[in-house]
Amino acid sequence: MAILTVENLYKNYGPIEALKGVSFSVPKGSVFGILGPNGSGKTTLLGIILDVLRATSGSYKLFDQAPTHVQRQQIGTLLETPNFYHYLNAVQNLTIAAAIKQRGKADIDKVLQLVNLEQRRFSKFSTYSLGMKQRLAIASSLLGDPDVLVFDEPTNGLDPVGIVEIRELIKKLSKEGKTIIMASHLLDEVEKVCTHVAVLQKGTLLTHGHVDEILVTEDIVETGATDLQQLHTILEQYPGVKGVHMKGQHVDVAFSAGTAHLEALNRFCFDKGITLNHLRLRKKSLETKFFELTQNNN
Ligand code: ATP
Repeated sequence: MAILTVENLYKNYGPIEALKGVSFSVPKGSVFGILGPNGSGKTTLLGIILDVLRATSGSYKLFDQAPTHVQRQQIGTLLETPNFYHYLNAVQNLTIAAAIKQRGKADIDKVLQLVNLEQRRFSKFSTYSLGMKQRLAIASSLLGDPDVLVFDEPTNGLDPVGIVEIRELIKKLSKEGKTIIMASHLLDEVEKVCTHVAVLQKGTLLTHGHVDEILVTEDIVETGATDLQQLHTILEQYPGVKGVHMKGQHVDVAFSAGTAHLEALNRFCFDKGITLNHLRLRKKSLETKFFELTQNNN
């Protein structure tokens, strides 16, 4: 099941085209990174999904259905710098958050434990480090036990220790079965925590897919045959492959950079009874490309 499917989304702010025909889908259980430099349209995209903004055209589905208020309630969000009462403690702040959301009051102890703030739950918010404040905001997004979490730049402004804490927390939530959609301008961050990524540049989707296919420097070999399922099964047995993924009409096979040999791969498939009708080596240069884009935009 797709948690979110975005179909040809456009958003204009007057003459500014913030999104230009963006389409992708977020698989259940993934940690899905929306990666792009400042101004690429990440926040706009999240705003549309969460019904804070209206798309100029295009549509999206939540849980494979037209979005409704009830479906949106199943999403926990962290959209901007957390706004809590400075003179109240964590429990008091979360009690207010639960009252506003009209759910999750019974979860307060559990979410504070999840984000590792139970020791400090009776300390005033004003005494928290930035990292603790951000973790409290994540705790708030977890009230009501949503299956899906949307985080906009969750590590923004944190020091290295705070960043690691948030990363570990995201991984923990993912292990618990949550689907996490997060916007980030940091390639490193997406690479470290995300399973999937969509790369945005000035409102255009450059590419999307598994992180291990898109961000890591690897050789990807595109292969095709009449029976793609059988091809997939056989390629998984090929010595030295790092990953095999169905991609539309092709099966992509990932190798460490410089280790893909097309002739040997072709022979292997043929010996297993499969005749390839497509075979192409694609070098992984997106990482370099992404840095260039980021630099151009700064
Ligand atoms: P950042 O990380 O800096 O928030 P972003 O990738 O989230 O960037 P957006 O905030 O979605 O990007 O902005 C996309 C484009 O739309 C930018 O050119 C921005 O200036 C423009 N934009 C965003 N909000 C508005 C608005 N309310 N009015 C006019 N232009 C806007």
